[in-house]
Formats: sequence, C-alpha cells, structure tokens
Amino acid sequence: MSQDVLSFEEALERFDPVLGFEVHVELNTRTKMFDAAPNVFGDEPNTNTTPVSLGLPGVLPVVNGKAVESAIKLGLALNCSIAEKCHFARKNYFYPDTPKNFQTSQFDEPIAYEGYLDLELEDGTEFRVEIERAHMEEDAGKLTHMGGDAGRIQNAQYSLVDYNRAGVPLIEIVTKPIEGAGERAPELARAYVAAIREIVKNLGISDARMERGNVRCDANVSLMPKGATEFGTRSETKNVNSLRAVERTVRYEIQRHAAVLSAGEKVTQETRFWHEDTRSTTAGRPKSDADDYRYFPEPDLVPVVTTAEWIEEIRATLPEPPAERRKRLKADWGYSDEEFRDVVNAGVLDQIEQTIAAGATAAVARKWWMGEIARLAKQREVEIAELPVTPAHVVELDGLISEGKINDKLAKKVLGFVVEGEGTPAEVVEARGLAVVSDDGALSTAVDDAMAQMPDVVEKIKGGKVQAVGALIGPVMKATRGQADAGRVRQIILEKLGVQG
Ligand code: ADP
Ligand code: MG
Repeated sequence: MSQDVLSFEEALERFDPVLGFEVHVELNTRTKMFDAAPNVFGDEPNTNTTPVSLGLPGVLPVVNGKAVESAIKLGLALNCSIAEKCHFARKNYFYPDTPKNFQTSQFDEPIAYEGYLDLELEDGTEFRVEIERAHMEEDAGKLTHMGGDAGRIQNAQYSLVDYNRAGVPLIEIVTKPIEGAGERAPELARAYVAAIREIVKNLGISDARMERGNVRCDANVSLMPKGATEFGTRSETKNVNSLRAVERTVRYEIQRHAAVLSAGEKVTQETRFWHEDTRSTTAGRPKSDADDYRYFPEPDLVPVVTTAEWIEEIRATLPEPPAERRKRLKADWGYSDEEFRDVVNAGVLDQIEQTIAAGATAAVARKWWMGEIARLAKQREVEIAELPVTPAHVVELDGLISEGKINDKLAKKVLGFVVEGEGTPAEVVEARGLAVVSDDGALSTAVDDAMAQMPDVVEKIKGGKVQAVGALIGPVMKATRGQADAGRVRQIILEKLGVQG
C-alpha cells in the first residue's frame, strides 16, 4: 500500500496537475425548470411540487423561458457562443432523488459552448480558463439518510426524500482540461469558483449562496509526470460547496494522486467526497467515461431556438463584468494594489463607489471605510456592510469636518453614535453637542485655567519658546472633551501672552 499523501511540494516536483471543473448553478427563477411549482429554498418538504416535478404519468413539461434567458446571460458572460437551436435530452438513471427516473438535461447540444473566463490570481497575474460548455438541466430532489452517522447512507435505517428541489433550474458549466496551473492549482480552483459565483450574482440569475448549494463544484484532478503530454486518470470530487473546501480538495487530491503514482500504483477513475472534518476525500463510486445514461432527445419538449435579435437584446442588459469593474475603479481611484485589494477583501467596493459618487474624494472615502468604520465593524464582530453607516453619512461627516464644525477625533466619536443608530452625523453632532468649541468665551476660561496650572510653561513661551504652546493645548482639549478648535486655542494663548506666533 502506498502512503496516503505526499507533501504538496514533493508532489509538484514530480508531477504537473490537470484540473477540470463542473459547476452547477441553481437559478433563482420564481418557478421550476419545466413546471409552475415554486422555486423556494427552505419550505416545508414536498410542498413545492406539481405532478410534473413528481414525474407522474401523463404530464407534459414546459420550458421556463426565464431560465433560458438566464442561461443565455451566463453563456454571454462566459464569452461563449450561443446555440441557435438546441434540444433537451433525457439522462436516464434510477435513483429515488429523481422521481422521473431520468434527469432532463442537455447532451450534445448545450445552449452555450466554447467560451473562456479570465481569472485574477493573488500575485496579480491573469489565468485564462477555457469553457467547454454550459448547459441547462434540472436539479434532483434531496435525500436525507436517517439513523446512520452524520447523515451518510452507510448504516442508515431509512431515507427521507424532499422533492421541493426536484426540477429547480440548473446550469452546469464545464471547463476544458486546465493545464499549467502548477503549484497555483488550489488557488486557481478557488478563484474559478469564486469568479463563477460572483458572475451569477452580478447577473442576478442566482442567489449564489454556496452554503445552500446554489453553487456547487465537482473538482476533477489528475497528474501527469513532469514533461509528459498525456493526461493521467482523473478523480472527480463531487459537490464541494465552499470556496475553502474547493481549494483544499484540489490540494489534497494532488497530494493523494502523487502518493498513489509514486508507489507505482494506478489512480482509480471514480467519484469522491470531501470531508471537512478529516480534511480528506473518500472514494464514492467508480466512474468510467463510457457510463451509459442512454441519453436520447426529450420527445415532450420542443427545441429551444434563439434568434440573433433576442441574444443582442439580452446582451444589452448585461451589467459590467465584476473583474472589469474592479479594473476601472482601481484606475479611477488611484489606489495602490494593496490598498485596492484590502478594499475588495473588506467588501466595501460599493460603499466607496457611492461615497465618491456623492462627492467625497477617493482618499477620504477609503480613510473612513477602511479606518474607523472598519474598526467599529471589527469591534462588533460584524461585516462592515451590516453596520447602519451609509455612503451619505460619510459624505455628511466629511462635510462637517471641512466646515470646521468637527475635527477628526470628534468625527470618530460621531461615527460611533451613528453606528448605535442615533441618526445621521449632523443629527448626532446637534443632539450630543459635539461640535468643535470655537466660542472664545468658553475657550478663554479653559486657557486661563491651563495657564494657572502650568506657570513654568507660560514662562517658557514668554521667553520665546513658542512650541511649548502644545503643552497648554492638551489640557484645554481635555477640559472641552476634545471639542476645542486647536488652532483657535493656540491663537488665544499667544494673544494672552502677547507673543507673536
Ligand atoms: P463527467 O460529467 O462524466 O465527469 P464532463 O465532461 O461533464 O464529464 O466533465 C469532466 C471534467 O473533467 C471536465 O471539466 C474536463 O475538462 C475535465 N477532465 C477531463 N479529463 C481530465 C483529466 N484527465 N484530468 C483532469 N480533468 C479532466
Ligand atoms: Mg458532468
């Protein structure tokens, strides 16, 4: 028996990984792919069904036009060609999650084919992933195995089936084999799935919540000895449903394949499952490329025909692609690579864009969102987006500073109260009396007190050491709870002592 895994470094010294991804995206259409049953997550089991989604005899499916439109949108976003005419096909298999005993899918005529997606990697380089096809199909029902360990079928006593998910529209995106990623293979896997998730969210065609299975990835991995050109045997880890898990799955499978091959053994072509608890995969079922699903054209559905006008109409509605938008914003704002990456990671691109649109400079917007607001979010252990601070608040705050009503220190205090839900910055300043004190009467008294407490400092200033003024400003600020206008305080002190600034 070979050892379980080789170190990642050693694996890559000996082998080149080849990857391939099949990503399933659940669409957020109101109804299912072929019937009017509601497409809603989390409802009472088996309430969102019709005779069609239950596969009862004598029913006729009808294609969901909105789902076709979503598929075309996604195809265009993935730089694919769109088929002028395509059929649905029956993929026959017997399993209780599919009430019809076949899945309505597409086979040799996918709606979208031959595209690509350019990924941004962490080191700033771009990596192009070629897309083989994106086809329409329907989801299966959900099985829950009871009485075994951790919901697995092994040792289970019985299984429950929920057909609410049966018939939910899916698009499956299949890549061509991806070569040349080398040690960046795990990162690439994560970046690819993250990009698909971002695109479908941006297109508005899916809720894109991986924890709900809206986006799930089958990760194919194989290795070939360095310098070889013929692909090795692949494993296919099914339904990986978090970005972190996708990255870890690819890393683990590279290490596992390397151990098998290094021991002179053969990799088995099979499906596998990722386990977060053990951070490893286990074997599912053997799977050959010639698995016979007895595909044949679905006789109950007419072909989907897409006219050039329709495709152009849809293309005109597409939002700016997320990656292009990022490039544009980075250039517009003049942030450094690192500053921009931090902004993206903090999830405040929209907020900063809106803050700038509402009149703040790029530097001011970044200063507040990535500074005090980020700090308040961290302190409360929430995402910045969950705080009740808006771009309009930041612009208002900045305006109060420019007018000299508040200083930076007070502005931070004000934000704290805005986050507490006390209103807009101007309202907080008003209600809490937080404006800078530049009223000479109040400041004069505080200055007199400070000078009385520090006669030695007063002497120094009189003797020409003007920079000693700072020692008096501190106590004045304290006495006014940070609300004194420091510049004005300095002037008052110098006037009182008859010294030129
Ligand atoms: P299946 O559904 O039977 O797994 P698909 O063609 O839908 O087949 O998907 C197979 C995926 O695996 C594709 O992304 C393909 O590019 C990729 N792939 C094919 N051969 C290899 C290989 N030797 N190593 C890694 N990935 C591969
Ligand atoms: Mg497949």
